[in-house]
Amino acid sequence: MAENDNTEWDEAQCKEALGRLERLQEQLDCLRPCIPHILDLLRNPQPSPQHLVNEYKETAIGSSRKLTAFKAAWESQETRKIMGQAQQSFRNDMDLTAGYQVPHYGWANAMEHTIATEIKNESNENQNSESDESEVDVSVVVKDFRNKYPHIKIITESENSVLKIRVPFDLSALRFTISRNINLDEDKALKVQCGGSGSFSAAVTRCIASRPSPNHLPRLLDMIAAFHNSGYNPCARCKKIIDDNGLKPAARRSRSPKPLGADDLSSWESWHEGCLN
Ligand SMILES: [Zn+2]
Repeated sequence: MAENDNTEWDEAQCKEALGRLERLQEQLDCLRPCIPHILDLLRNPQPSPQHLVNEYKETAIGSSRKLTAFKAAWESQETRKIMGQAQQSFRNDMDLTAGYQVPHYGWANAMEHTIATEIKNESNENQNSESDESEVDVSVVVKDFRNKYPHIKIITESENSVLKIRVPFDLSALRFTISRNINLDEDKALKVQCGGSGSFSAAVTRCIASRPSPNHLPRLLDMIAAFHNSGYNPCARCKKIIDDNGLKPAARRSRSPKPLGADDLSSWESWHEGCLN
């Protein structure tokens, strides 16, 4: 996979490449527990044969999606360019000792922070554009959502100022209520509550409240849809399903950049609340 344009990369390009490689490594790490998860299902007693079939099917499909996304990212043009550049750079200078001083982790978060800042700046420049919450046509957004996620129920109330969404999760469902108030400043225009009194629901509400792009309704709906049957996804950061508080990952954050070939749901990652910082 040698592919490069024979030019030296600047520091920003090198940092972005490290970020992409770190995300690639994480995708690979997420594939490791796939077979153990399936074996656990077969080894441990399940409440009913139907439950076993459903769990087995979902775990197998989820694993297959992760593998497809990883292959797409591995074979993507971006990865080819990075590999080509690395080979070229190694041919030019085979002394790699300076690289031992460079940290192995943290590049992906830095890359995403840079991208998020760029997106925020762009959105500030286009405050009167269609992404402005006050300009959003909720009926169109809801219709698009229903087409995109036919298994997730969404209804609107009070002249589109309240949206209620029911997302299948584990053996039950998560219920979300979005209240729109376009008279408030844009960071507070869309308020989200995850129903239920448990500590997991409260953590989900907090994680959604700290989302990037807080006034972008389609993006918010995609984030909520990303909870769909994702209860057994390990955390993208610590790779565990349960954290020290006994909670599953309560946050959903988009992979950035979205892996080539990834569908709408598999382009999101699960994060524990405590792993976001
Ligand atoms: Zn974690």
